[in-house]
Amino acid sequence: MPITDVRNNELQFKDIVEKYPQIPRFLILKIDVQRRGVYYTQNALNKIDPNIYQLIGSNVFFASLGARDPKIKSVPESLILKDGTTIITDPTPLEQNPYVVDYRDGKFVLVDKDEIVEEVEFWEKPDYYGKFTSSGVPMDSIVFARPQRLNITPTSYCHFWKNDNGCKYCDLVPHLREDGVIKKKLSAQDAYETVREAIKQKGRFANICMTMGSDVNGKTPFDAEVEYYIEILQAIGKNFQGRRFPSQVITTALNEDQLARLYNETGLSSYTSDIEVLNEDLFKWICPGKEEWVGYKEWKRRLVAAVDIFGKGNVNSGIVGGVELAKPRGFKTEEEGLKHTLEEAEDLISKGVSIVYIVWVPRPLSFFKDQKNASLEYYVKLTIGLNALREKYSLTIDFDDYRRCGNHPNSDLLRVL
Ligand code: SF4
Repeated sequence: MPITDVRNNELQFKDIVEKYPQIPRFLILKIDVQRRGVYYTQNALNKIDPNIYQLIGSNVFFASLGARDPKIKSVPESLILKDGTTIITDPTPLEQNPYVVDYRDGKFVLVDKDEIVEEVEFWEKPDYYGKFTSSGVPMDSIVFARPQRLNITPTSYCHFWKNDNGCKYCDLVPHLREDGVIKKKLSAQDAYETVREAIKQKGRFANICMTMGSDVNGKTPFDAEVEYYIEILQAIGKNFQGRRFPSQVITTALNEDQLARLYNETGLSSYTSDIEVLNEDLFKWICPGKEEWVGYKEWKRRLVAAVDIFGKGNVNSGIVGGVELAKPRGFKTEEEGLKHTLEEAEDLISKGVSIVYIVWVPRPLSFFKDQKNASLEYYVKLTIGLNALREKYSLTIDFDDYRRCGNHPNSDLLRVL
């Protein structure tokens, strides 16, 4: 069935805004745009000034994940709404029913069914873009900017793909194989110099986030991954005076010794390890590499152990919202998916591990390429449910909120509820 037919049976943006008045309209719009993607008209593309805006395409260490429309390359990194809400989304072919970004009457606008829904802007290019490290590497190929966060992805390869056990929603390595950028590695000196330059821009950046694919190598699995994080974090840390600097890593679930090393040997201040889907059977099916090397129960146990080391409010885990409904083994209904996801989320949240979600996008090079993500209402309920649990257990997610990350609808709520 074409995606558009399915969508027409679901409550649409305006209906959801009316039904959930406690959730900001901009946040509901963000979720819907992430679910459906965007299509840039040629008129809009002609007006997007690359000297002002941050465009996709320059990071050589960690190429952007494959867009739903792989033909489109040079488009804005992402969108920003009038209240500062960021919308990380990607170009999507018109036949998949995306929102349209157009330029009308001197403004960029989001359009749906030829009706203007909202004005929109794009992320501005930071000052360090276009500059080079002393070894001649373009800084914007090493560290890419979100509006208020520096993202460092020191290497692009994920070792779970060696025996084709990559996560089923992920297109990282297939995409890299196509682009031929596998296994470049960032040097600690280049990382240090780029961060030094980036933070000269006053008032722009509030956090630094580092992530890369899993690396199973080492005496104990993932020792090599830990070593590399430590090397880069120590180099970046030289730019800051205090013992700790505003920072986050998103790693494979590490054991206590590895976590203690990260905490004691660097200035790292918060820790994330993404469990991706909150159900053991689905984890085994959807994330076979994570299951092979760590396992679902152990992944959860290690997240809780990280709270003892990094402290409550400094540890979280990401899930791919909606992937629990993937066919054929996922939950059969959205009601069931939501109920089980929130139950498992509560188990972790009650132990000090907050949960943030991203909207699942079935990407063309992923195993789940032909599937569809959940309804807008499902995501709004997931947003409300996760936020209610966070409040129930008095957890903060400041290090991964709308300012630092901007890619988790539920942590966007931190500023309004
Ligand atoms: S751990 Fe899973 S989601 Fe992360 S890069 Fe590897 S395959 Fe992709």
